[in-house]
Amino acid sequence: MKLNKLALVTGGAGFVGSWLCDRLLEMGLHVICVDNLASGNRRNIANLFTNKKFKFVEYDVTKPMNIRGAVNYVFNLASRASPVDFKKYAIDILLANSTGTRNALELARQKKARLLLASSSEVYGDPLEHPQKEEYRGNVSTTGPRSPYDEAKRFGEALASAYHKTHGMDIRIARIFNTYGPRMRNDDGRVIPNFITQALKGRPITVYGDGSQTRSFCYIDDLIDGISKLMFVDGLGGEVVNLGNPDEINVLEVAKLVKKLTGSTSKIVFKHLPQDDPIRRRPELSRAKRLFGWKPAVSLVEGLGKTIEYSQMK
Ligand code: NAD
Ligand code: UDP
Repeated sequence: MKLNKLALVTGGAGFVGSWLCDRLLEMGLHVICVDNLASGNRRNIANLFTNKKFKFVEYDVTKPMNIRGAVNYVFNLASRASPVDFKKYAIDILLANSTGTRNALELARQKKARLLLASSSEVYGDPLEHPQKEEYRGNVSTTGPRSPYDEAKRFGEALASAYHKTHGMDIRIARIFNTYGPRMRNDDGRVIPNFITQALKGRPITVYGDGSQTRSFCYIDDLIDGISKLMFVDGLGGEVVNLGNPDEINVLEVAKLVKKLTGSTSKIVFKHLPQDDPIRRRPELSRAKRLFGWKPAVSLVEGLGKTIEYSQMK
């Protein structure tokens, strides 16, 4: 129990952030959720508005954050995360992860708070090493279509690391791999919500390329366990840790699985593969296991089942 401690969650009205707010409140913390609702939604946190320990502030993190009173933990999640947004919202994404991250770090510095940065497997780009270990330095284009997100996450890591070294702050960096679950928007554009929505509506399931590219999908409950452990275990200042699920599957197989689990009659159709779409991705997770005994527990079939059930209720 973390009674009377306060956690601030930027991006707390989004998919990951809203589940994190739930978990922190369950742990006994007070929670301030800061979100400009760019890709998040009040519905995700509607269950929390009556909780006296919860406060929502609609605010853009690219502006300096002034919070009265003590803040013990800052979870910095504010950023659009869907590849379909990387073009239209390129500058917003770059600023959320640079200026926004700086503002979160400054707030944490002022408050002497511990900070966890939500980074991404995208820092590895289209990886030339497989599976991806934290030591791998990545294969990223500075100007390609994914660069607004990839390079912004890389800059965010560099900035957080510099605050750790310069100011002795307690910083933890989570490199999050593809995570899915209830509360992702139907129109988010990422593969799991796309396939589930298409399958449930009887629309064609759109596989990009020939579907041989792979990903490794982590269910949201597992990720929230990992994020909480990474933040609350003592003595991890400056650590960079992969969080994800190591079970790798190709995208065509995901389409077939979603079709089967939804009992859909949708056709699977093939569309153009976006430029720089990573060919393979799988986290190497021994660091998380060694440092705080974490590994994911939910299989793709089980997690997809829960996500499909949620989409059917919406
Ligand atoms: P999401 O789009 O559901 O959530 C992002 C939240 O950030 C939204 O609520 C959005 O409104 C908010 N936001 C964006 N710009 C903001 C700004 N300038 N000021 C205030 N709020 C802002 O996406 P998500 O999947 O929940 O991702 C959360 C975090 O985790 C992001 O930092 C993302 O990069 C990271 N991440 C997620 C995944 C994944 O698979 N879900 C993988 C790697 C990294
Ligand atoms: N993808 C797909 N059909 C879709 C959406 C995505 O085949 O409707 C593919 C995409 O090209 C990528 C993988 O699914 O190879 C995962 O895409 P997502 O946008 O979820 O995340 P990414 O891992 O690319 O950041």
